[in-house]
Amino acid sequence: MDTAVLKNLNTDLIIEDREIPVPGPQDVIVKQDMTGICYRDILTKEGYFPRVKLPIVPGHEIAGHVHEVGSDVKKFRKGDYVASLIYEPCGKCEFCLSGRENLCPHKKTYGEAKDGAYSRYVRVSEKSLVKVPSEVPSEAAVMAACVTGMIYHAIKVIGKIEEGDKILITGSGGGVGSNAIKVAKALGAEVIAETSSPWKEENLRKIGADHVVTMSDHLSRDVKSTTGDGVHLVLETVGIATFEQSLRSLRTSGKMIVIGNLRPEPVSLPLGIIILKGNSIHGSISSTKDDMKKVLDMTASGRLGHVSDTHTDLNGINAAYGMIKEKKVLGRVLIDFQDNK
Ligand SMILES: [Zn+2]
Ligand SMILES: [Zn+2]
Repeated sequence: MDTAVLKNLNTDLIIEDREIPVPGPQDVIVKQDMTGICYRDILTKEGYFPRVKLPIVPGHEIAGHVHEVGSDVKKFRKGDYVASLIYEPCGKCEFCLSGRENLCPHKKTYGEAKDGAYSRYVRVSEKSLVKVPSEVPSEAAVMAACVTGMIYHAIKVIGKIEEGDKILITGSGGGVGSNAIKVAKALGAEVIAETSSPWKEENLRKIGADHVVTMSDHLSRDVKSTTGDGVHLVLETVGIATFEQSLRSLRTSGKMIVIGNLRPEPVSLPLGIIILKGNSIHGSISSTKDDMKKVLDMTASGRLGHVSDTHTDLNGINAAYGMIKEKKVLGRVLIDFQDNK
């Protein structure tokens, strides 16, 4: 099968012909129609995750139909429609046992610690999988773990967003931010979308943003003139470029949920804002199987809409990385496997 492989850091991925993987006792082989390209895959290529063992098949946004199951697999059988966590949880630690497997210290991320999603057939652990309702299109199933489920975890499970709350989403033109608009709207929030690409404004409004603001030194002033007293919640997907301004955009007792860090450098933290206004900052990482089930059900019932994607094929992978890096696309870039063996 055609497989994209990262052999050395900071080099183009290479397409290799590999055998379809054989399942271990607790593994499932998933046949994918498509997979998503994540900004994290680009950071992996650039060497930001030092524990990645090369060569590696990148990618962790996995969904499709079960092709084969290992001898001990009980919950899935050939033909089931499934989606995978971006990692294999250990299944035994305090976090796994309390339904917070996203915090599992022993988890192994696909595309980093184990070969990942950039081939039609992928070997995943049974522990990573959930079933997908038949109404859910492949595009949405592929995004249930790393995109929509991850956002749901951040703003609902951690951020406890309520209907009518105001939320600022930074980096809203990217694959995560644009889908965050959809998830926040599905949960009944009023959305202020921040972007550094003003040409995306009309599209962001079409996706559902109630207001659009542009990244600048007066971002917090612009947010406050739009909202009155600031926002209940910030979903920070960018990191250093917007961090301080988005912190200043919170109303009293507001929460900032940090999920993105495009340039992994320290940020300065004005403690006065946190103390005087009783604000809080939370990190949120990935999603659990429960988050995935929630967003898949929201998609199946029509509550959660989908941002249109850009499609490429496996041979276009290196060009697609360039487009994402240069912020030339709105929404997710997906690799289609239709033409691949
Ligand atoms: Zn991802
Ligand atoms: Zn665990």
